[in-house]
Amino acid sequence: MNIIDIIEAKKDKKALTKEQIHFFIKGYIDKTIEDYQASALLMAITINGMTSEETAYLTEEMRVSGEVWDLSDIPGLKIDKHSTGGVGDKVSLILGPLVASCGAKMAKMSGRGLGHTGGTLDKMESIPGMRINLTKEEFKKQVKEIGVCIIGQSKDIDPADKKLYALRDVTGTVQSIPLIASSIMSKKLASGADCILLDVKCGKGAFMKTYEDAKILATEMVNIGKKLKKNVKAEITDMNQPLGKAVGNSLEIKEVIETLKGNGPKDLEDICLSSGAILLVQAELFKNTEDARKALVENIKNGKAFEKFKEFVKAQGGDVEYIDHPEKFPVSKNLIEIKSDDEGYIKTIDALAIGLGSCHLGGGREKITDVIDMSAGIILNKKVGDFVKKGELLCTLHTNKDNVDHIIKSVKEAFIFQAEPIKESELFKSGLIE
Ligand code: URA
Repeated sequence: MNIIDIIEAKKDKKALTKEQIHFFIKGYIDKTIEDYQASALLMAITINGMTSEETAYLTEEMRVSGEVWDLSDIPGLKIDKHSTGGVGDKVSLILGPLVASCGAKMAKMSGRGLGHTGGTLDKMESIPGMRINLTKEEFKKQVKEIGVCIIGQSKDIDPADKKLYALRDVTGTVQSIPLIASSIMSKKLASGADCILLDVKCGKGAFMKTYEDAKILATEMVNIGKKLKKNVKAEITDMNQPLGKAVGNSLEIKEVIETLKGNGPKDLEDICLSSGAILLVQAELFKNTEDARKALVENIKNGKAFEKFKEFVKAQGGDVEYIDHPEKFPVSKNLIEIKSDDEGYIKTIDALAIGLGSCHLGGGREKITDVIDMSAGIILNKKVGDFVKKGELLCTLHTNKDNVDHIIKSVKEAFIFQAEPIKESELFKSGLIE
């Protein structure tokens, strides 16, 4: 067997065998296959696709390319949740403590933000002291004792994905459904949870721009789960506007706190409750999502979810004073209000433009080595469907930078209006693939 034949086979639209995929991953890890050969194969896969069978083989080879964590000594079913990435997506930080307050055990590894999307780890690090690199033993102890732990991806898990993702990033091969599905699922399956809920974001600010593509990706990942005998479900949710009202690291942590206290924006609370209810059923703690949802709502009302968040922050070294007194978070020196030039109903708020805007204000990174300004970002004052009068506040930019006229312009242009109220039928409908 040799890599050139494998590249040629995929170039000729043939399905690769389990043995060929094993040969590729093993050879790429042990460096007998060069980057330029791997790039050629990745491009052939991006153009010609893979069958579900090939995608499952690729996932399995990647999963076992490094350590596979065993969490079986923690009592109960361990759950994990993954979002394909969006703007203002702080769901994991709400969901983890929320479901843990109902008895679930969330064992989660997260990523950093890149480009227009934010990352859970960066948001966590805006809380002074918060540690995201725990050892496997610390991770397991915290899941066992508190019910929620969120850390950075262990360097020993899925080295094949680390190498391949870095290569895809610079070879125009990120946007491929089998490559995205195998990348996400191999990491998740190696992290040891029994049940996984995937949140496949769909819309302008997401990898998947159309519902059809989001559904194909979600189905592919759920099928991988079935083939590898894991309980995997996937929601398809809206990324045609940012989630919630806050975009930017410490701004989002403040919104997490408000949501856990029951004062969060409706779209954010809705997704936390729907994902939370599905997870509690997956974890076999509730028989149906209606009862699970009631328990989640109750724990927001009675303060248990918020207390669990504080326990989680404290366990990972974070300063809980900031959670009790969010006014302690540093505020950017420039708060720039953007007012509407139009009157009408908001049809869309381009999540990509808002995400990029927040990033350029200092809240994100363009290169993995960039340093983030934790206080920078955007607070939306209006959401899709709201009526806006001329001169009304659309959003506020938070930044320590001075010359941001170009960002003001692009953020303002992100708001698209229409004269008529938005009809119920025009609103995004979430889907569930199981
Ligand atoms: N997230 C991942 O982990 N991998 C991808 O390929 C895309 C998004």
